[in-house]
Amino acid sequence: MDEYFSPIHTYQVCNVMSPSQNNWLRTSWIPREGARRIYIELKFTLRDCNSMPGVLGTCKETFNMYYYESDRDVGSSIRENQFIKIDTIAADESFTGVDLGVRRLKLNTEVRGVGPLNRRGFYLAFQDIGACIALTSVRVYYKHCVGVSRNLAVFTDVVTGADSSSLVEVRGQCVDHAEERDTPKMYCSAEGEWLVPIGRCVCSAGFEEHRESCEPCEVGFYKPAAGDGVCGKCPQHSHSETRAAVSCPCDSNYYRAADDPPAAVCSRPPSAPVNVISSVNGTSVVLEWDRPLDTGGRSDLQYGVLCQKCSVEGPCEDCTASPGFIPRHTGLMEPRVTVLNLVAHTNYSFCILATNAVTHLSNEASPCAIVNITTNQAAPSEVLAIRQENTSQNSVILLWHEPNQPNGVILEYDVKYYEKIQEGNYKSDNMYCIHCGYSKAFQDSDEEKMHYQNGHVSFPDARFYIDPHTYEDPCQTVHEFAREIEASRIKIEKIIGSGEFGEVCYGRMRLPGKRDAAVALKTLKAGYTEKQKKDFLAEASIMAQFDHPNVIHLEGVVTRSKPVMIITEYMENGSLDAFLRRHDGQFTIIQLVGLLRGIAAGMTYLSDLGYIHRDLAARNILVNSNFVCKVSDFGLSRVLEDDPDAAYTTSGGKIPIRWTAPEAIAYRKFSSASDVWSYGIVMWEVMSYGERPYWNLTNRDVSMV
Ligand code: AMP
Repeated sequence: MDEYFSPIHTYQVCNVMSPSQNNWLRTSWIPREGARRIYIELKFTLRDCNSMPGVLGTCKETFNMYYYESDRDVGSSIRENQFIKIDTIAADESFTGVDLGVRRLKLNTEVRGVGPLNRRGFYLAFQDIGACIALTSVRVYYKHCVGVSRNLAVFTDVVTGADSSSLVEVRGQCVDHAEERDTPKMYCSAEGEWLVPIGRCVCSAGFEEHRESCEPCEVGFYKPAAGDGVCGKCPQHSHSETRAAVSCPCDSNYYRAADDPPAAVCSRPPSAPVNVISSVNGTSVVLEWDRPLDTGGRSDLQYGVLCQKCSVEGPCEDCTASPGFIPRHTGLMEPRVTVLNLVAHTNYSFCILATNAVTHLSNEASPCAIVNITTNQAAPSEVLAIRQENTSQNSVILLWHEPNQPNGVILEYDVKYYEKIQEGNYKSDNMYCIHCGYSKAFQDSDEEKMHYQNGHVSFPDARFYIDPHTYEDPCQTVHEFAREIEASRIKIEKIIGSGEFGEVCYGRMRLPGKRDAAVALKTLKAGYTEKQKKDFLAEASIMAQFDHPNVIHLEGVVTRSKPVMIITEYMENGSLDAFLRRHDGQFTIIQLVGLLRGIAAGMTYLSDLGYIHRDLAARNILVNSNFVCKVSDFGLSRVLEDDPDAAYTTSGGKIPIRWTAPEAIAYRKFSSASDVWSYGIVMWEVMSYGERPYWNLTNRDVSMV
């Protein structure tokens, strides 16, 4: 009976009274099955010698356990002395005799390990040397580490090492869709436990870790490289159509640039730049624009400008290579470019493109913002390389080529010559000039012959000024020449003067595609008569026909709302007479002559158009911030009535006596020649910093002079 009073089978021996016991019990052959160290668990009972009277000297309380290795079953042929002793086994518990009249049985359990084993099998044997023992069970086993997955590597089942301290190194194999980072390893201890995991595997691209395995990324997700990371959602404007995607191709019309990472959102070329503003200055133009409304989802914006030159007759031709683009025409980082060296009086069309790093990947042509401009009149470029031939004592022949940039038809060449004072030293100021001079040389060409028909200079494109009084309706006349400007585009800021018809104001004008411009606004005061309106707008009709840097420029008129206004460029320094008085003695002679040169250029232009000014005086010249003088005041009847300096003549008209040529005072014979007389008076005004001509002489005295 065991301790629970269940019947059990035992091997037992109890020869405690007899001396020199040597009883053996042997197992049958046990195959080793790869085990290198085996464990034997014994269950037995062992009776306490003290509990048995009369056994002293012969009774033992231990027994011995042995083993013997062999490759096959050798049966009973093994001799006792061939067995190797494993241990002497003693009991932790033993019989303690009769307890309450019942024999109390206490089962002992002892475990011993043996290794290394090398043969294919073995026997175990138990030797009794005189104890009272009952062996109830012998369990023989070995230990192994059970196959596991750790760090995405599979470690197979492995038998433990031969001795109690040995560790068996095991290499793991990466699970499906994983790859080694550091060789995965673990150690199997003698106790069958996995110890010290080293190295690991990571899920391949397109797979992510999920409970010790690698699962594919779902549709719409991707993982670009092997690693610990999880699948990411496809970036904006990209997609994945299958599971386990390693990248997300861009949606149609979206792209990734070569150096964009796979995680970058897909982008597209930008739209065209907007709000292009052009400012033409002679033969150059400054183009400025705003960023495109759609940058395509990128920040690497650049701009490029293409140029087309359009003549009236033929088709447009590409001119991107010819003019000077500053800083350059492609790869512009700032929304601005200056184009120099254009041909004068020519139409150009510029196409402004915005590009980014994916523009070249798109098959579609980049949209561009087109701006058309017309260059102005400009002086020819410098004459270079003058040759000298046939120099004699008093004559010389000079030859030269047409300038690189004629900017139109060259009408004449001016040759200035100076006396040479010393070798390499020329007198340059006309005031010191003794034998010096000035001559004109004309082009020896068919054009020259055209200019000189009937002994008069006439130009192929000669235009004549049209007197607005030849028209009936002043409003119709004015729109023939001047553009109507919407009042909403004008912002009046302050009053700067007063004219015959009303206040003159300073304001700002904003036209589409143009920069905010400072303007002068001449207003027609309320309650005007039809005649006043006609005269007021006549000035605009005249001014509108002029286009010259030294003649005040008309921007347009406001006639469809009140107040009726004439809008001109703003001249920061106001009228020339007051300007000179404010700066008395502050300029060099060259600067004063520079002012006069400008007025002369403006007057030459007007007389070429057949316009006679009749009231040229410093007060009717305006000066801008760059000290450029411009001829203004283009009334007709006004000339004789508006001017405070005009006086009634004997013939009844009102004339600015001090500025007017004698024949005009006497017979009202106004001509370009009488304008030249007035110009002479203006010269005097300028050189004297705005003194009053003839000082305090009366008008009568002046006309007598
Ligand atoms: P007007 O009626 O043309 O004589 O103009 C009266 C005054 O207004 C002039 O004497 C100037 O002081 C001023 N003024 C007229 N036009 C302009 C302009 N375009 N820019 C600046 N001031 C101007």
